[in-house]
Amino acid sequence: MTKLEEKPIINKEIFNVDVNIFELVQKVYDKNFNREKNKIGCSELPHCARKTIISRLFNIPSKTNMKMLHGKIHHSIIQEPKILSNLISSIYQQLAIKKKEINVITEKHLIYEILPGKFLEGHVDIFTDDFLFEIKTTSVPLEYSKEIVLFYYVQTNTYLKLVNLTLGFILCINLRAFQSDMTNLSNIWKKYGYIIPIHFNQELYNKTIEKAILMFKFIDQNEFHITGPEFKWECKNCSKEIKEICLKEQKKEFS
Ligand code: SF4
Repeated sequence: MTKLEEKPIINKEIFNVDVNIFELVQKVYDKNFNREKNKIGCSELPHCARKTIISRLFNIPSKTNMKMLHGKIHHSIIQEPKILSNLISSIYQQLAIKKKEINVITEKHLIYEILPGKFLEGHVDIFTDDFLFEIKTTSVPLEYSKEIVLFYYVQTNTYLKLVNLTLGFILCINLRAFQSDMTNLSNIWKKYGYIIPIHFNQELYNKTIEKAILMFKFIDQNEFHITGPEFKWECKNCSKEIKEICLKEQKKEFS
């Protein structure tokens, strides 16, 4: 298992900002969540391979729209210009890197061909010349907080390779932690958000690419008899439609 450094490193006052929630919600609905069979999203790489394959074969989104909506709202909060600029300069200060000009790109699109005509696709949430950020929301029970960061490490590590960087950060917020504070978005990040530094790990990257290649092979063969998730909570969080197909097939496999 990949080892993590646990070092929250920024002053959370940077999240003190107003946002227009209605505009953010509109942006989310404007996006198309369906993916094509010849593409796997980097965000899908940590998930149960079976789930991703079923999602492609039966054209079912692997996350509910509400989960995606929550995620996108928090992405948009962190990508608000004022928060973004405070966040990036705070990190540069702490890394003791002096720059004349800081280049920041949000939603940097990546596409990488891993087999002929088969691609990994992703959007780096925040990208600079020296590090990147992956913004995450989760609804996994709090007792799995450590595991969920290891889970997201897979995606962030893949991005690091694809953009040729060695340092990244995961900004994570657990949606279960703040249900009673839903009315104040600034407070949510200040109280419940955390940031974990990630260093590129070649071994993990190799394993991730092997898994992606295997998933493409299964999709091409129109079948999903492949090992399930690494973490138990994934089945609890699996979408109802996908779980039904998975369990039906499992019954056949064991009968
Ligand atoms: S129910 Fe579990 S094993 Fe089946 S697709 Fe979902 S996460 Fe994977």
